[in-house]
Parts: sequence; structure tokens; C-alpha cells
Amino acid sequence: MLGSLLLAGSRSPLARRAVSGLPLTRKVVDRFVAGESTADVVAATRRLTGSGLSVTIDHLGEEVRDPGTAVAAAKAYVSLLEELRPLGLGARAEVSVKLSAVGQALDPGMALENARQICAAARESGSTVTLDMEDHTTVDATLGVLRALREDFPETGVAIQAYLFRSEADCRDLAGSRVRLVKGAYAEPASVAWQNKAEVDRAYVRCLRALMNGTGYPMVATHDDRLIAIAESLAVSAGRGPDDYEFQMLYGIRADRQAALAAAGSRVRVYVPYGDDWYGYFMRRLAERPANVAFFLRALRGK
Ligand SMILES: Cc1cc2nc3c(=O)[nH]c(=O)nc-3n(C[C@H](O)[C@H](O)[C@H](O)COP(=O)(O)OP(=O)(O)OC[C@H]3O[C@@H](n4cnc5c(N)ncnc54)[C@H](O)[C@@H]3O)c2cc1C
Repeated sequence: MLGSLLLAGSRSPLARRAVSGLPLTRKVVDRFVAGESTADVVAATRRLTGSGLSVTIDHLGEEVRDPGTAVAAAKAYVSLLEELRPLGLGARAEVSVKLSAVGQALDPGMALENARQICAAARESGSTVTLDMEDHTTVDATLGVLRALREDFPETGVAIQAYLFRSEADCRDLAGSRVRLVKGAYAEPASVAWQNKAEVDRAYVRCLRALMNGTGYPMVATHDDRLIAIAESLAVSAGRGPDDYEFQMLYGIRADRQAALAAAGSRVRVYVPYGDDWYGYFMRRLAERPANVAFFLRALRGK
């Protein structure tokens, strides 16, 4: 119930103004966001890769409604990739792109062109791009852009949301590609998505099985210990070694678990968001876990 309210709030301009104006919000947001500037995220990248993790960096922003902002977002990614190049991290520092941040709602052709520029800049560094998945109304368009990008950049990955009924079939179609499997973070109707945790978890395992049995590179994005253990066992059954798939978790969430998995020999990539347009991302993180709301309220009370 609280989660649904927070997800509704994540798309409300009124709630955005109210939350963004609260004192101390920035301090709370910093738990989930690596900072506002390119220098901040480059510093976070150095720290995380120095401790044996990989990163996928998200320049925060979504549902962009004007072409200037969409082009600026693409430029921000290109200059970030240029800043990262001298570090020589290659694919250990990739980027995650929301197509709605680069113009999907305005003109799908513009989003494709902007995404293409980001892919070209990533390739210059031996790096890759993964397309985030947004709400269910955008899935077909996102997969269309993915197909077009993959003609020139077959290394481009995409996130697939296990909670959507369609995703098991999408995973079978994409089982030769880089696919990040997530549970799904948006408020979706019962006509298109599983609604309770047990059903979503079962769907996640079915999708995971399709990806592990395919020829692509599964990216297992979850903080859920049960699903992590299942992924490890499905990988063994499919004859995959520790370099044939990876785990992914979000910046600021279960950092101890990220370190432990990496120390045990798994590949682990951290999704690192940065920038000042943190509102939608932050609200989805609060919606995932009521304890995060308590943390937010405690900080507001100055405790
Ligand atoms: C790398 C990465 C990329 C993602 N990309 C997308 C995307 O493109 N599109 C999309 O819709 N969703 C995306 N997500 C979000 C995803 O859909 C889930 O909403 C989110 O990962 C929570 O699900 P879970 O699998 O961790 O399981 P859950 O069942 O939600 O959580 C399992 C356990 O993890 C811990 N945990 C989970 N969330 C939090 C939190 N916010 N704060 C503190 N602890 C927490 C708790 O201990 C919890 O018990 C991404 C997630 C990751 C990790």
C-alpha cells in the first residue's frame, strides 16, 4: 500500500516539488546517489573498481519533454565516457541509459540517434551500454531501439522486468544477448504484470532459466539472497563459469553483500546513479523498502 503510494508520488509533479523542497533531502538522497557532478561519479567509480567491483553508471533523468534536455543528457553521457577513458577500465565501467531521458516520448528517432552516439562513445573505451527498462507502455519501443542499436553495436544490453507476463518470451528471444534481469520497479496493472512477491519471484526464476540456458550474457540484478543462490545453481547446471554471467546491485544497497560475492569469485557490477534529477529514482527506492522511508523520516527529524 505504502509502496503503491510512493510509486504514484514518483510521477506526480506536486509530490516532486514537495519532496525536493524538504530540508535534508540531499543528505538522504546521497545514500542512493553517488553525487551530482561527473567528478563525483568518477571518484565513486575509482573507489568501487578499486575494490574489485564493476559499475554501470546512470546519468539521472527520465520522461524528458523537450529536445534540448534530451540532447544535453546524451552529451552528458558522452563526456562522462570521455572522462572515464583514461582510467582504462573498459567494460568494467559501462553506462545505463533510460530512453525516456534521451527523447523517447518526443520522437523515437531522436532517442535512437542519441543512444547511438552514447554507444559509439562507449565503444571507443571498449565499454558497453545497457538500456534500462521503464514502464510497460515503453517496452516495445525500447526493444525496437535495442534491435536497431544492435545492428551496429551487438554488445548493447537491455533490462527485462520479470514481473511482466510477456518477459519470459522476451528472455527466450534475447537469450543470445546481454540481458539484465530485474524484478521490475514501476506500478503496473494486473492486466500486464504479476502483483505479488511470490509470483514475481517465480517468474524471475523462469526468466533466469531461459537466460542461463541461452548463449548470451545474463546479468542477474537483484538483492534477493534466494534468487542469488538459484542463479548460482542454474549457472552451474548450464555449464557456465563465474565469468559467463554477473550479479548486479544498486549503489548504497547491500554493499556488504556486493563485496562478499566479489570476494567469493563472482563478477559483481554496481548500478551507480549520479546527477541532480534524482526524484523518480529516489522514490522508487523508497517504495521498494518501507525501512527506507523510516530512514528518510528520521533524517528529516534530525536524528
Ligand atoms: C542493477 C539494477 C538495475 C535495475 N534496473 C532496473 C530497470 O532498468 N528497470 C526496472 O524496472 N527496475 C530496475 N531495477 C530495480 C528492480 O526492478 C527492483 O525494483 C529492485 O532491484 C528490488 O528488487 P530485488 O530483486 O532486489 O528484490 P526485493 O524482493 O525487492 O528485495 C530483496 C531484498 O533486498 C534488499 N533491498 C531491496 N531493495 C532495497 C532498497 N531499495 N533498499 C534497501 N534494501 C533493499 C532487502 O534486504 C530485501 O529484502 C534494477 C535493479 C538493479 C539491482
